[in-house]
Amino acid sequence: MPLGIRERLSPNQDSRGDPPNMRPINMLVLHYTGMQSAAAALDRLCDPAARVSAHYLVEEDGALWRLVPEARRAFHAGVSCWQGESDLNFVAIGIEIVNPGHEWGYRQFPEAQMIAVEELCRGILSRHRIPASRVVGHSDIAPDRKADPGELFDWPRLARAGIGLWPPPAPGLIRRRGRGVGVVQHAAALADLARVGYCLSSATEDVALAAFQRRFRPERWDGLLDAETCVRLAQVRMAVEAAQAARELARTRFR
Ligand SMILES: [Zn+2]
Repeated sequence: MPLGIRERLSPNQDSRGDPPNMRPINMLVLHYTGMQSAAAALDRLCDPAARVSAHYLVEEDGALWRLVPEARRAFHAGVSCWQGESDLNFVAIGIEIVNPGHEWGYRQFPEAQMIAVEELCRGILSRHRIPASRVVGHSDIAPDRKADPGELFDWPRLARAGIGLWPPPAPGLIRRRGRGVGVVQHAAALADLARVGYCLSSATEDVALAAFQRRFRPERWDGLLDAETCVRLAQVRMAVEAAQAARELARTRFR
């Protein structure tokens, strides 16, 4: 456990399941609190009536709280889906990052907070085998309901620290913004979106695209499939595949 962590155990937790049905911890979900203050968020995450929680909460000054032990199931993902899998609380560790969110005045995540988030994530990744493609935001796994941690969250910084995937955009990409795409490109883009992990139905196509953009092209997240988004999708899909291939290779080497 990182130094200086404070503990306030939430009653909103239970077992991750019993063997042989127990699934391994293999996912990390980042959230923003979306409340007016850290104190209000802490109270809610520990209120038995609210039935919500997370494993950790990180305040804007970097102060860190542990609410649920990693070995237990916290209630943060809700109805969600990633890479075709649901009931993600069973396999996920959830971090709540204090920010008022889009409802109460969304703002930048301060440096002290990001340092703490980075350190916390690093520790979690050292304790559990979590593939890079399974470090996600809440909006990635519940795009029809959620927008957190949102377009101001510094995913590139975490990726540079080895936490999750965020390939740098190809140069010249921005010139393609707003340009329409044909039917073939559209189909390829949706296949890429699913390959990255987004769960799709005809009803959720635009919200999933907006979630992808929020994370990987945060300058504009209108949910419209333009040429820039297509190229970015292919880029991220290739990064996911490369990470998966590298994992597979490491597994066979050390067998
Ligand atoms: Zn959330």
